Amino acid sequence: MSRSRLAPPMLPIGGRLLLLLDYDGTLAPLADHPSRALLPARTKRVLEQLAQQPDVQVAVVSGRALADVKRMVGLPRIGYVGNHGLEVSAPGLRRMPAGAKRICLRMKRIADRLAAAIRPAPGAWIEEKGLTLSLHWRLVPPKERRRFHRIAADFLAPYQQRGALRVMRGKQVIEIRPPLEGNKGTVIAWLRPRLSSRRRKDAPAVVYFGDDRTDEDAFAAVNRLGGVSVLVGRAAGATAARYRLAGPGAVRNWLEALERARPHAHSRGGAS
Ligand SMILES: [Mg+2]
Repeated sequence: MSRSRLAPPMLPIGGRLLLLLDYDGTLAPLADHPSRALLPARTKRVLEQLAQQPDVQVAVVSGRALADVKRMVGLPRIGYVGNHGLEVSAPGLRRMPAGAKRICLRMKRIADRLAAAIRPAPGAWIEEKGLTLSLHWRLVPPKERRRFHRIAADFLAPYQQRGALRVMRGKQVIEIRPPLEGNKGTVIAWLRPRLSSRRRKDAPAVVYFGDDRTDEDAFAAVNRLGGVSVLVGRAAGATAARYRLAGPGAVRNWLEALERARPHAHSRGGAS
């Protein structure tokens, strides 16, 4: 479907709900450096309020390292997915790939070699995320970008050809990961039964918000589960998302409207 025709999603005001949200470009506005992409206070507050509702589960699903996204969001009682689905942490739940320590050491060695290779490309830098690497090129001057992409492709090709690395392209970033199964889509099917209440057999409705190419796996998975897939901002190309919101501010407004509309919203003390 043409992305320009996508409407905002309806508010799921009844029933159990699993709210999954990407971080950068979805909850937090993009910044020149990941450390400056801060979660707005109002967004943090509404996520906390929604997570307190008994029928709502909240998880942030990011390409950042797990520890990094947890620190950026700073809410203790919600779920977190890091490194595009490779790492999961939620109350009573934790998942890391087998051999994680060895994989991290190997990725560190690759990062050191890559750092030497990209030295001639001004502005390019590597974010080491334990299990994966991000090669950022937002700050590479436009006239240097062709050279940067040639250097990066020449470096990565031999690893990709022998299946030693997988490469995904996001917004002005190249995501480099080990050849492990799992992405933002597969983790959703794994998470859904585990994040919801053990006493309840009915599966919650899933709503997923994301802004980038790496969220497309999640959109497709959510569509297969009969859920609601929401593109935030503009897509770089075709998208599997069925709905759209303009940006992180529109996501926050939608979450606030949801919090007000759900019946439990007014059941937590205060004037009655
Ligand atoms: Mg994003």
